[in-house]
Amino acid sequence: MKNLWSDAGARTAVTRYAKDGANEDLALRVYTTRLLGGEPRLVLHGGGNTSVKTSARDVSGKTVDVLCVKGSGWDMGAIEPQGLPAVRLEPLRELLGLKTLSDEDMVNAQRCNLLDSASPNPSVETLLHAFLPHKFIDHTHANAVLALTDQPDGEAICRDVYGDEMGYVPYIMPGFALAKEAFRVYRETPDVKGLVLLKHGIFTFGDSAKEAYAGMVRMVSRAEKHIRKGARGKTFAIAKLPKKIAAVAQIAPVLRGLIAMPKGDGCHDRFILEFRTNRALRGFVDGREIKRYACQGTATPDHVIRTKQKPLIVPAPTAGKPDAFVRAAAKALEAYVNEYRAYFARNNKGRKVKKKELDPIPRVILVPGVGLFGVGGSAKAARIAADLAETNVNVIEDAESMSRFEAIPEPDVFEIEHWSLEQAKLGRGGEKPLSRHVALVTGGGSGIGAATARAFAAQGAEVAVLDLDGDAAKNAAASFGGLGVGCDVTDPKAVRAAFDAVCEAYGGLDIVVSNAGAAWQGRIGEVDDATLRKSFELNFWAHQTVSQNAVRIMKEQGTGGCLLFNTSKQAINPGPDFGPYGLAKAATLFLMRQYALDHGRDGIRANAVNADRIRSGLLTGAMIKSRSKARGLSVEDYMAGNLLGLEVSSDDVAKAFLDLALSPKTTAAVLTVDGGNIAATLR
Ligand code: ZN
Repeated sequence: MKNLWSDAGARTAVTRYAKDGANEDLALRVYTTRLLGGEPRLVLHGGGNTSVKTSARDVSGKTVDVLCVKGSGWDMGAIEPQGLPAVRLEPLRELLGLKTLSDEDMVNAQRCNLLDSASPNPSVETLLHAFLPHKFIDHTHANAVLALTDQPDGEAICRDVYGDEMGYVPYIMPGFALAKEAFRVYRETPDVKGLVLLKHGIFTFGDSAKEAYAGMVRMVSRAEKHIRKGARGKTFAIAKLPKKIAAVAQIAPVLRGLIAMPKGDGCHDRFILEFRTNRALRGFVDGREIKRYACQGTATPDHVIRTKQKPLIVPAPTAGKPDAFVRAAAKALEAYVNEYRAYFARNNKGRKVKKKELDPIPRVILVPGVGLFGVGGSAKAARIAADLAETNVNVIEDAESMSRFEAIPEPDVFEIEHWSLEQAKLGRGGEKPLSRHVALVTGGGSGIGAATARAFAAQGAEVAVLDLDGDAAKNAAASFGGLGVGCDVTDPKAVRAAFDAVCEAYGGLDIVVSNAGAAWQGRIGEVDDATLRKSFELNFWAHQTVSQNAVRIMKEQGTGGCLLFNTSKQAINPGPDFGPYGLAKAATLFLMRQYALDHGRDGIRANAVNADRIRSGLLTGAMIKSRSKARGLSVEDYMAGNLLGLEVSSDDVAKAFLDLALSPKTTAAVLTVDGGNIAATLR
């Protein structure tokens, strides 16, 4: 592991953070915290923490000793001075005299001593930082150190590597008891350069930010060297797998459907999947002994809240035998859920204060022959689960290359998983109506499509934007962190590939807005067939291709779905010389009704939005001009030439799509967005 400290970088940090009111101690603390946090082999997603003991002025102007310690919810790689809230040091140190201290009292004592009451909660490991006397303290869950300690004789191995340079703290759950024990170990061996927390991580410390950081890099490098030396070559014996394995896009919707939990009102609590594969992962998931080494527990305790103790392992999916995979995966999930409930009951028994049972759905799924899926309530949560799962694979592989991987025992895992201070990091408070849903919008690169994609993303959906113009699709999707795919919706192969890409990115699909279209003109008695056929290709057939792909995936998931079509006023009220456009759109309006009729039994709804005279819609500026001219109106009067006298925008149409998506009992409906046009009303 490389030491990334640079004197110039440190000086820049001091100047930069001084502008935020940070003193030199805090600025350097931010600087090396970011160095640590930028290295995934040391720190991942909120794991690890750092502190500095310095002084600050309180509201009365008095200078007081404080501990600036990482706040809960901050990521070390992107930390700012306000992510290291200042806590009065003396009152924290006084707690060392107590015999016991409940978590609630500990959190309260920490919050009561914040200089700024608006600060985030100081880390759950704050007291450990406070009790140790060193000025700068760094703590990580370094993979290499975990690979050493996560073995049956982990302590002996660490002593072999570090000797007297480090202190060794037995596994205790973070909090007051661990802080006291770490202090006790330190006091017995006060010359140590750091502490190894068995089956948890490593602390290093120093008088300067540079020293503490260099200590971390040095100690982790030594662990890495030891692993390389002790490795016995190939780790896992490979199991016999089917010759032809099913594609990720085929198995992901099956898994996503299986883990969706019915909510009782016909709706489901869905999850998003994040797929990962590479050579190391395949070596792991294809292994003959996968059940033994993959189900021991997590490399470091705090992963468990995002990955659970055990992954779900499903049988390898044979290509061309989807039904067999569905049955086998369902059976594996049922066993997983039963086992999880038994684990909860077993560990909750005999407690004075009962724990609240969490959902029994796995957060990591291992598929031999394929790779792994991270599972979460959002694409971000799924990504985090996948990152942690990959880290666990690395640690387990390294541990197994020397001896055997061994995590903390089940009762300790249970404590962490159900610990209120850890669960507080999750929570579903921020969820929106379309959170946990995947939406796809065709023609989403501009106009109505882009507005609709934005509106769905704003309501929490993970959104894929398809557009003929791949760059436009990517740009539109980038504005809300979605997936952009270039796709000609009149080419069935391209549509299939785009839907596959969406399944690989999110695990499946819940809502499809079939929006792509274009307006061809021509007087019907004279127009050439080619024009009419071209319009039908895009304004009818593409809707059919898109919908068939959507239904295929929705049926694989078995959790219903929502099809939305952009029809047009032309589908109901023909305009002069707009036959090529209107005829295809009228067919699409009936297509919507046919989907509603044939697939209502699959829980799939189909609805349409009938919009007219939209600015930046399907009509080009030239078309609007020619139409308004034909009616002897100015462009402005033409655009607002409706019963309400209001101009209709793309955002108004997007809202109509959203309303239909959020109406679970509505199907086969057409919602009109045109400011009122009596000739185009439905009857
Ligand atoms: Zn820790």
